[in-house]
Amino acid sequence: MKKKQIIIIGGGISGLSTAWYLSRTTQPIEILLLEKSSRFGGWLHTDHTKGFHFEKGPRTFKVDKSPSTMQLIQELGLENELIWSQSKPHHRYLWHEKELHRFPTNPISFFMSPLTKGFLKAAFTEWRRPGKEGDETVYEFVLRRFNYDVARLFFDPLVVGIFGGDIRKISVRACFPMLKSWEEQYGCVTKGFWHHWKKKKEISSCSEHVPGLPLSAIFSFKQGIEQLTQRLLAQTPLTCHSGQEIQGISRDEEGFEVHSQTRTYRADAVFCALPVREAAELFQQCVPEIARELHRVPSEGITVVNVGYDHSVLPVQGFGYLTPTYSHEDVLGVVFDSSVFPQLNRHAQETRLTIKLEDKGKSEAWSIDAALKGIRKHLNISQNPTAISFKRNIRAIPQYGVGHLDKMAALKEDLSKKMPGCFLVGNYLTGVSVDQCIARAKQAVSEWLLTI
Ligand SMILES: Cc1cc2nc3c(=O)[nH]c(=O)nc-3n(C[C@H](O)[C@H](O)[C@H](O)COP(=O)(O)OP(=O)(O)OC[C@H]3O[C@@H](n4cnc5c(N)ncnc54)[C@H](O)[C@@H]3O)c2cc1C
Repeated sequence: MKKKQIIIIGGGISGLSTAWYLSRTTQPIEILLLEKSSRFGGWLHTDHTKGFHFEKGPRTFKVDKSPSTMQLIQELGLENELIWSQSKPHHRYLWHEKELHRFPTNPISFFMSPLTKGFLKAAFTEWRRPGKEGDETVYEFVLRRFNYDVARLFFDPLVVGIFGGDIRKISVRACFPMLKSWEEQYGCVTKGFWHHWKKKKEISSCSEHVPGLPLSAIFSFKQGIEQLTQRLLAQTPLTCHSGQEIQGISRDEEGFEVHSQTRTYRADAVFCALPVREAAELFQQCVPEIARELHRVPSEGITVVNVGYDHSVLPVQGFGYLTPTYSHEDVLGVVFDSSVFPQLNRHAQETRLTIKLEDKGKSEAWSIDAALKGIRKHLNISQNPTAISFKRNIRAIPQYGVGHLDKMAALKEDLSKKMPGCFLVGNYLTGVSVDQCIARAKQAVSEWLLTI
């Protein structure tokens, strides 16, 4: 039987996990992965070139929020390569009224902290507030259910930290689906939270995939995050062509033609694992209405400055801190990498920090200066780092506006009619996290299986 030719365009985690799930089917197939750059892995990028362990893209995953990643780790036999945080680094801070405040972790601090005043005020009235059908922005949802303080001191920094986005623009259903479902199911978020908390107490507190790994832990790998994409690349039977910038795609009765600047490839099925803007450009000629919809999804950039010190400079331990939009700081947040994963430090005194800045198109020198000024102001660190690494991530995180999930579902449906055999995977469809990219890849392979 002739093997089906399958092309995957884009070699980030979406493309690589699609290849993995395709290879696990019993179908006779040949997989070709086409990647623009010379390296595979996309945003997952561990850098040891400055002597320190620096992550330039994603750096941490939470076990209970990563069911698909945990399963993939087990399938790849990567369990013994996992490292995870101890409980102390879970402390998170917020820059508020010119000082760092720790987010409460117990009932007493919850009642005392200036950060949770808004929650306390709302807790007694939230159950009386009416629900609302349909999607809305996170800001509208939080104002409706809680109040302005909860929006500005909790959800605003959270949205900046996770999505690099604006609380007034992004969709609550897409970005915080649990909150919306609690409102729908229990009539109020507080009650939903209570039920969720009780249920969590009843189930095992450890991962079903890795014995002894607490569900509340944050994990990485002994060689860093990129170990995941390297293992996928090593263990998936596929052919990879790097340096192939794909510029267009067309379809006839025979199947697909995929065009790079130098070659044309033929395939029976295609998985597009490109970022949203590049996906729009891919479909520009053959299905312009799909391209138009994809062009409407904006993306936010983020600048990352990693700094390493040979000595201990952190005045507090924990996961890191965020700055709320109202404080108008250049630094959006800092992760205390050396506290979260001391296993990745070369010696006990080492300090590694990741400083995130909004991508304003500024120069490397300006960004590094802003990052160092930020940690001097917020953490009182005035020493010069031993190593600095800088990366501008342009259009890194797609922004899910109101109604985004419905729009993407309709778009996938439309594509399946206009270009049967072509599937979309990537971080602009059902979730931006690495775990959601992996889950979408698995789902897309199931969709393909239904068509053959
Ligand atoms: C700084 C940063 C921090 C993050 N932190 C976290 C985190 O802590 N936890 C978490 O879960 N998520 C995090 N994310 C989000 C997550 O990393 C991404 O959503 C995810 O990695 C996207 O993977 P992808 O494969 O869909 O896209 P990408 O990683 O963008 O991969 C797309 C690939 O396509 C290639 N390509 C582009 N154009 C073409 C073309 N024309 N032809 C061929 N190939 C092409 C690119 O070179 C790239 O390799 C972070 C993202 C960033 C930027």
